[in-house]
Amino acid sequence: MLSVTLNNGVEMPILGFGVYQIPSDRTERAVSDALAAGYRLLDTAAAYGNEEAVGRAIAASGIRREELFVTTKLWIQDAPAEQNTRRALEASLAKLGLDHVDLYLVHQPFGDVYGQWRAMEAAHREGLVRAIGVANFYPDRLLDLVLNNEIVPAVNQIETHPFFQRTTDQALMREHGVQHQSWGGFAEGKNELFTHPVLTAIGKEHDKSAAQVVLRWLIQRAIVTIPKSVDPGRMAQNLDVFDFELTDAQMAQIADLDTGTTLFFDHRDPEMVAWLSARRLDS
Ligand code: NAP
Repeated sequence: MLSVTLNNGVEMPILGFGVYQIPSDRTERAVSDALAAGYRLLDTAAAYGNEEAVGRAIAASGIRREELFVTTKLWIQDAPAEQNTRRALEASLAKLGLDHVDLYLVHQPFGDVYGQWRAMEAAHREGLVRAIGVANFYPDRLLDLVLNNEIVPAVNQIETHPFFQRTTDQALMREHGVQHQSWGGFAEGKNELFTHPVLTAIGKEHDKSAAQVVLRWLIQRAIVTIPKSVDPGRMAQNLDVFDFELTDAQMAQIADLDTGTTLFFDHRDPEMVAWLSARRLDS
């Protein structure tokens, strides 16, 4: 498995497995299947409600902890967020059955982000998290965090797929040493991604599916990707993307699909800010 080196030297696989929207009673099976297929990066979040199931699958796998890269995410915390963040991290670690996670992300750019970040910096110093980062930060918020804190986020996990390519975001992240990670790499199938004529035509030239073309395109852009699937056949297909290379012309054809706008929601839309900010997790 190819990996990227984060800004603190930690190695992160370039391709992993996401568990968003997998119901908690199906997650253990899905993660066990994913680990058996060869995935070693697992991406969960407190807000997904399935950390315990991820932890059970990790424990049952017998895979050595050092071989795994586990990401979880902190939900929005009110000010002052230091104690709440610490509690939330401890709850996530207990649910996962782990003494540390490899990457801990601020899930949303809302609430007392600076308090959350200070608590995450402290947790990093203590070795509870090997790297800390953020998700859903647009360039303005990301730069503010980078310029006004001690630790530069190792990762920014943002919506990135052929219809919303985030090239400007990526350029800023590169400039500041923040690794770009894609969520929703398949746009959850929106815009008929899996049967899209451009993607399927490119796939035909390599004997690959549209899904594999998209993953390969992300990898060639040096973007870490975490496709979700509950189907072992599709899990295997999504891992099988290291034996072909897209040409410059094919990369350019995919670049033309960018619409420059989200297919989900805009974290700068006041309605979304209010809606996400209203949610709190129990622990
Ligand atoms: P996604 O990976 O873009 O798409 C998942 C969908 O694609 C599922 O419906 C899956 O169906 C289908 N699929 C997977 N492989 C396929 C293939 N080879 N051929 C055809 N269909 C295929 O969506 P996502 O789950 O939203 O994003 C990936 C991960 O990113 C999440 O699981 C989560 O870990 C993370 N994420 C983070 C945030 C954030 O705010 N930080 C937000 C969203 C997601 P089956 O399961 O039936 O195969």
